[in-house]
Amino acid sequence: MRATVRPLRFALAVLIALSPLGVAGQGQDSPEARFRASIVPANIRESMRRLSARPHHVGSAYDKDNAEWILARFREWGWDAEIETFNVLFPTPKDRALELVAPTRFRAALEEPPVAGDLTSTQTDEQLPTYNAYSRDGDVTAPLVFVNYGAPADYDELDRLGISVKGAIVIAKYGATWRGIKPKVAAEHGAIGCLIYSDPKDDGFFDAPVFPEGPMRNKNGVQRGSVSDMVLYPGDPLTPGVAATPDAKRLPIAEAPTITKIPTMPISYGDAQPLLEALRGPIAPSAWRGGLPITYHVGPGPARVHLKVASNWDIKPLYNVIAKIKGSTYPDEWVIRGNHHDAWVNGASDPVSGMSPELEEARAFGELLKQGWRPKRTIVYTAWDGEEPMLLGSTEWVEKHEEDLKKAVVYINSDGNGRGFLNAGGSHTLEHFVNLVAKDIKDPETGLTVWKRLQSREIARGSAEVRAEARNRPDLRIGALGSGSDYSPFLQHSGTPSLSLSYGGEDDDGIYHSIYDDFYHYTKFADTDFAYGRALAETMGTAVIRLADADLLPYEFTNLADTVARYNTELQSLLRQKQNDIREQNRQIEDGVFQAVRDPKKPLVVPEKKDVPPAINFAPLDNAAGALTRAADRYKKAADAARPHLAASSDVVAAVNQQLIQSERVLTDPDGLPGRSWYRHLLYAPGTYTGYGVKTVPGVREGIEQARYEEAEREIVRAARAVMREADLLDQAAADLEQIGQ
Ligand SMILES: [Zn+2]
Repeated sequence: MRATVRPLRFALAVLIALSPLGVAGQGQDSPEARFRASIVPANIRESMRRLSARPHHVGSAYDKDNAEWILARFREWGWDAEIETFNVLFPTPKDRALELVAPTRFRAALEEPPVAGDLTSTQTDEQLPTYNAYSRDGDVTAPLVFVNYGAPADYDELDRLGISVKGAIVIAKYGATWRGIKPKVAAEHGAIGCLIYSDPKDDGFFDAPVFPEGPMRNKNGVQRGSVSDMVLYPGDPLTPGVAATPDAKRLPIAEAPTITKIPTMPISYGDAQPLLEALRGPIAPSAWRGGLPITYHVGPGPARVHLKVASNWDIKPLYNVIAKIKGSTYPDEWVIRGNHHDAWVNGASDPVSGMSPELEEARAFGELLKQGWRPKRTIVYTAWDGEEPMLLGSTEWVEKHEEDLKKAVVYINSDGNGRGFLNAGGSHTLEHFVNLVAKDIKDPETGLTVWKRLQSREIARGSAEVRAEARNRPDLRIGALGSGSDYSPFLQHSGTPSLSLSYGGEDDDGIYHSIYDDFYHYTKFADTDFAYGRALAETMGTAVIRLADADLLPYEFTNLADTVARYNTELQSLLRQKQNDIREQNRQIEDGVFQAVRDPKKPLVVPEKKDVPPAINFAPLDNAAGALTRAADRYKKAADAARPHLAASSDVVAAVNQQLIQSERVLTDPDGLPGRSWYRHLLYAPGTYTGYGVKTVPGVREGIEQARYEEAEREIVRAARAVMREADLLDQAAADLEQIGQ
């Protein structure tokens, strides 16, 4: 890889000599090389120790203390920093009870005890008890039904078994869908309560020993977490779309649509086992069975369960830390980077393993400032509060600063870090940019670049198609973003180009959102020498410097065009597949196939015939995708030709940059997605029934998936218009750059 970089360096050196403004250098004495050389893993370790020393959830004493400590560090390092406060609804447990009342009795402990050797696990006074935030209050007793992961397809399977959850309490495994989807789908099917447990097959003893002997979830470990209906909107449930300032107009709690419809509680597999063991009814389908030493039955009953959940519904203050280095040339263009600082408990992995590298980056920028360096654009570093309950700090900040965000060149997020491979997701206009950064970061374990290591993994583990692309396509693909961290409001509400970066994939663990996610666990089982903390800081800092100092903003659109064309093809085959599947199933129903093959001793219900999806007109999207491909090619040619002359035409370049900054926003629509107007991006959104999992071209895709075909057809037109706006913007930018090239 180095060999391809060297001629480029030479070319840059020539340009710098010719250009009074200079070009973002990448050589040994360049700011980014000095930045990377100054990152110290021991500092990352020390920040983690300090920030995770006590529980620091929203509203806790140490949450505020951490925010003030982070603020003081930014100021010490020469940043212009402040704390920005919002006031949000944050429920905490008041009353929790879970018992099996028939056929035998058992009372769930609902507790995570301290473990030997782990000092912070003893901080019981400050720990939030195990609970699901934004579960409504309730006190219910009903038969129990096991629903696998509680995804919509699991309920289809229950229908085949002839089992209804109406009036029942369901018990679902964590995993497969985001946790907030489970009570939502359960309530849609008539359940009156929802339990969610961590099965040992998913993050317990099935894969490795449990904590403290090993890294996995022990029988008492519980995954806390929010179950608010994030796919409707994130942020404060009482102030959708507006900032939760003291005088904001608030919905009554009873009318907040993102609070669950049924009481919901997370439990350990220690507490789940007696409940599951008391179920009878059909044996669970083989794919549903977990790792407990029991026969998994579906129910309903004879197990009957009493579930009680009550919260203190208080408004709590949030403390976002916002720090800036003012740009020297384009102060009104912002490069934003962030990670959250709040945790469910001590949160060494989530979020401090991402927050600590960010602080080390901030210190390294302080060093550069002392050496006289100034970024051309303004750099904004953020430490969000309230991410865990529902992206509260970032969402409220984005809602307050919508005007400011028209200046945003990028938002780059992290939220935890580990050992292994680069994980990159984000706007496809930044796919090429991320590839270039990854080619200049050294992987600490192999000495290869992190790009080469990632490419090798795709070749080693990918399908034939992935393998061929990894070998032949110049850029590795990055994933589209759904939700699950603070990039969501930036990308999907304000239309800011966004990236999410981390390292991971080499260490399994089972401490997510439990009291055992702490410094002791992280320094024993995760990135123990913080070599990947350093790699993350180097990756982030390099990206930030390049974006802050670029003459022409490094967005690239041929990869976006390629991605949009793929989405269009995918959607058309999704519809065809659905038509074929339903046609085939209807035929089998008519031919009596289901009755002929079922086991009379375990009869399955014959499914009902469904309407075959109609043909849909994809022509608007076909045409728009074609126009985008042509415009992206034209822009690329114009940018390549203009590149040697940028410094001499800084006015034109500045004007082109102003257009480019809007290139993500034109993919949004102020009316938002059907049924959820907060989400405005027409290419990327969290799935209504997947949660964190992304749905690309969501209006069209979910229209097809959820059998709203007329809506899908209307959404094709809207998505096509957004893609056409992008093509027009690129044609205009290309026309401006073409003048420079001549
Ligand atoms: Zn997190």
